[in-house]
Amino acid sequence: MASHRIAVLPGDGIGPEVVSEAVKVLELLKKLDPSLDLEFETFDWSSEYYLQHGKMMPDNALETLKKYDAILFGAIGDKRVPDDVTVWELIMPIRKQFRQYINLRPVKMLKGVPSRFEGEDIDFVIVRENAEGEYSNSGGRLYPGLEEEVAVQNTIITRIGTAKAAKFAFEYAQKHGKKSVTSATKSNAIIHSMKLWDDVVRTVAEQYPSIKLDSYYIDALAAYFVERPDDFEVVVASNLFGDILSDLGSAVVGGLGFSPSANLNPEGDFPSMFEPVHGSAPDIAGKGIANPIAQIWSAALMLEHLGRADLAAVMIEAIEQVLVEGEVRTPDLGGSATTSEMGSAISEALQQKL
Ligand code: ATP
Ligand code: MG
Repeated sequence: MASHRIAVLPGDGIGPEVVSEAVKVLELLKKLDPSLDLEFETFDWSSEYYLQHGKMMPDNALETLKKYDAILFGAIGDKRVPDDVTVWELIMPIRKQFRQYINLRPVKMLKGVPSRFEGEDIDFVIVRENAEGEYSNSGGRLYPGLEEEVAVQNTIITRIGTAKAAKFAFEYAQKHGKKSVTSATKSNAIIHSMKLWDDVVRTVAEQYPSIKLDSYYIDALAAYFVERPDDFEVVVASNLFGDILSDLGSAVVGGLGFSPSANLNPEGDFPSMFEPVHGSAPDIAGKGIANPIAQIWSAALMLEHLGRADLAAVMIEAIEQVLVEGEVRTPDLGGSATTSEMGSAISEALQQKL
C-alpha cells in the first residue's frame, strides 16, 4: 500500500476555508477506503507569513516541498502585499523549480450547475503550456516617457517545450479514449513562433495516428468555445492562449466555483500542485461562505494524478449529487449554505456511494 505524502498550502483569504473542506473530504475517503493512504502536512506560507517574516516562504521551502508526492494549494493574494511578490516569490518558484510545465484545466459541465449551457454534454480538458511562451521575462523598454518610447516583449516558443506540451495532450487523449486534440494557433499573424508551434504539434500528432489533430486560430476557437463547446475533447495551447481559453471555458461551465486546475510535472520527478482557478476572494474571505467545490475538485485531480482515478470519479459524482439535489447551496449558487455545510453535504454523498 503506497503512502502518499501531501503538502497542504492553504494560503490567503478563502484559501484556508476551502482547503479545510477538501482535506475533510479526503480524510473521509481514507476512512471509507482503507487502501487510500494519505498523510497531510500543512504549511502556513502566505501573505500573513510575508508580513511577519519579510518573505513568502522560508529559504529551504522548496527543499522541504520536494519530499512530498503532491501539493494541495489554496490561493494567494492579499492587498497588503504586492501581486508580484505573491506570484514571483511563491507560485512561480514552485512551478519553475518543480518543472510543472503543464497546466491542466478540466472544462466539464457538472449536473445541476446553473449555466447558459446547462444540460449540454461539455467535457474536455485544456492543456496549457505553463513554462514558456508569451509569459517570458524577455524584453524591455526604451526611451521611457518620451514620445518615441517602445516596449518589446518576446515570446519564447521552443521545439522541446512545445513537443512536451503536445505529447502530454496526445498521451492524455490516448489514455482517456479521446479521438481528437485541438491546437490553438495564430500562425497566420504570428508568423515565427506560432509556425514553429504548428510544425511541432503536427510532428507529435503523427505519432498518434488514431487521434485527429484539429488546428484553429485562437480567435475562431474562442468563438467555437461558445458556439459548440460540446465538440472538444483535448485542447492544447500556448501559455497566453491557454490562459485566456481556460477562463472562457470556466465561464461556459458555470464560473470560478467550478474550475479546478493541476500544475503538472508529468515525469513525476517533482511534486505536482493542485489548486482552484479562483483567487483568495478577499471580498468574501472570513465569512465562511465560499464555494469549496473547485478546491474539492482540485483534490480529486490530485487523487487521479496519484493513481486513484476511481476515487476521483466518485468525488465528482458526489459533488454532482449535491448540486442536483440543490438543497445545500452556497451564496454564489443562490443559496445560503456555508462553506462547511457544502463540504459536509459532499462528504455525506460520498458516504452513500462508497
Ligand atoms: P486573484 O488576483 O487572487 O486571482 P481575483 O481578483 O481575480 O483574485 P478571485 O479571488 O478569483 O479574484 O475572485 C473573483 C470573484 O469571484 C470575487 O468576487 C470572489 O468573491 C468570487 N469568488 C472566487 N472564488 C469563489 C468561491 N470559491 N466561492 C464563491 N465566490 C468566489
Ligand atoms: Mg484572478
